Amino acid sequence: MLLTKRMVFTGMLSALLIAPVIDAAFAQGKNPKRAVKKNDTDGDGKVSRDEWQKSGDIFDAIDADEDGYLTVREFKAFFEGGAQAKRKKQPSSDNASSGGPKVSMGAIDDATKGAFFAKLEKMDQQRQRGLLESELVPVYPDGADCPEIDHIFGEPWRGPVANRIHSGADIPAGWDVPLHAMADGEVIAIYREGGGKSFRGRQVIMRHTPEDTGLPVYIYTLQSHFNAPPQVQVGQRLKMGDFIGPNGKSGVPGKRRQPHNHLTVNITTSPNYAVTDSLVIPVDGHFIDPVALFRGKLPIDTHAMRALPEDERRVQIAYKDDKGNIHPPDAKIIWPFICEAD
Ligand SMILES: [Zn+2]
Repeated sequence: MLLTKRMVFTGMLSALLIAPVIDAAFAQGKNPKRAVKKNDTDGDGKVSRDEWQKSGDIFDAIDADEDGYLTVREFKAFFEGGAQAKRKKQPSSDNASSGGPKVSMGAIDDATKGAFFAKLEKMDQQRQRGLLESELVPVYPDGADCPEIDHIFGEPWRGPVANRIHSGADIPAGWDVPLHAMADGEVIAIYREGGGKSFRGRQVIMRHTPEDTGLPVYIYTLQSHFNAPPQVQVGQRLKMGDFIGPNGKSGVPGKRRQPHNHLTVNITTSPNYAVTDSLVIPVDGHFIDPVALFRGKLPIDTHAMRALPEDERRVQIAYKDDKGNIHPPDAKIIWPFICEAD
């Protein structure tokens, strides 16, 4: 009873707090035993993800063996070698040339942080930033076979944690089926390690400028669950249709789920973005249904999509076929999988 009340209270409290950045972990006292005791509500001597009240980002940084529990030993290593622990998870995007549009987390406002650190108590902020069903209907080509979305953007997540909203669209396909750049753009982050629950295994995030896509916003495409390390580098410019890596299920929770590409798309009018240990956060970033990209014109944000008349909610998917032809030929954004011509 006491436990339940306490959990409800801390839940309410954390809803009022701003999602802390990783450095906050260093400021909260550095006694490993106390850190475990403070969070270990079921008394098993370690801290599970559910017991952890701070951001999943920090959890992932501390959970060195990625078993989903924080131990005294892991807290100790984190406090003592904080810089090393952080370095272990640091995305290779730090190799990117300086002076670009990459900014520090300090440049990200609280509303954006709240929406991007996808925690249960931040659902309102996520909805405000477009994380809800768009009501769009993808129309797949008549003359070709495309791998199709089976778990849509904005619906309740079908993964093992309840009350989460699916931040992208899942497109299942066979093992090692090639994934491709959806538009011209730059690779800005690669997450190479799978494991932690909040990770999507191997991920590649690209940033597409208005010149790249013909849409007057900055677009970020995240493709994930690659079966092998992606074949691209941070800082590399890719052309639409370039190979990124093989389809898989790295980081997919649940044994029964088949290999799929979880595709998350963010948009913003700002050219700037921050990179954390687990995600890229565009300044003033919003979530959109990946299907909206294929409208080829604004608006594409979720709230506007929901307000569209019904006939405009059907969106024809542009794609590259197995002979290398683009359909329609002037498309600047295409499906991440090749569609086989009939
Ligand atoms: Zn997914």
